[in-house]
Amino acid sequence: MKVLLTRELGRLAKWLRILGIDAGYFSEENTSSLIIQALKDDRIILTRNHRIPQARGMKVVLINSERIKEQIAEALGALEIKPDLKMMFTRCVICNEELVYIEKEKIRERVPEYVFNTQKDFINCPKCNRIYWQGTHWGSVTKTLEGIIG
Ligand SMILES: [Zn+2]
Repeated sequence: MKVLLTRELGRLAKWLRILGIDAGYFSEENTSSLIIQALKDDRIILTRNHRIPQARGMKVVLINSERIKEQIAEALGALEIKPDLKMMFTRCVICNEELVYIEKEKIRERVPEYVFNTQKDFINCPKCNRIYWQGTHWGSVTKTLEGIIG
C-alpha cells in the first residue's frame, strides 16, 4: 500500500515511514498536480484539506486530528494497517527510500565511535546516504507508539 500526504501532514509522513509504510509527501499547494501524482503512482491521498475533490479511481483519507499520535492512529485505522515491529526502520525517514544493510567496516568513519563500538547492525539510505542503527530513535519512537500499536 502506498500513500501520498499533503503539505500539512509532513510529520505524519515521517511517522508512517518509520513504521515502514511507503509514504510520499506532496509539498506543493497545487491540487491538480497532487491528484495526478496520486493516480500515476497509485497512492492513497492522506490530507487534512476538506476541499480535495474525490476524482474517479482515487481514494482520499481525511485526517481530522491535529495531534500526531491521534493522526497516526487515524491513518492506520483508515488504511487498515496493523503495524509490524519488523517493518519499522525499513525506510528512510527523510526520503522514503527503502534502507539497505551496510557492512559495519564501511561506516567506521561515519558514525560516532561509541555507536560503532556498541551497535552491531547498520542500515543505509541509498538516496541521501544517511546511516541508521537501532539505537537512533528506538526508545522515543516506541514510547510515542505505545497504545497505538499492540
Ligand atoms: Zn534518505
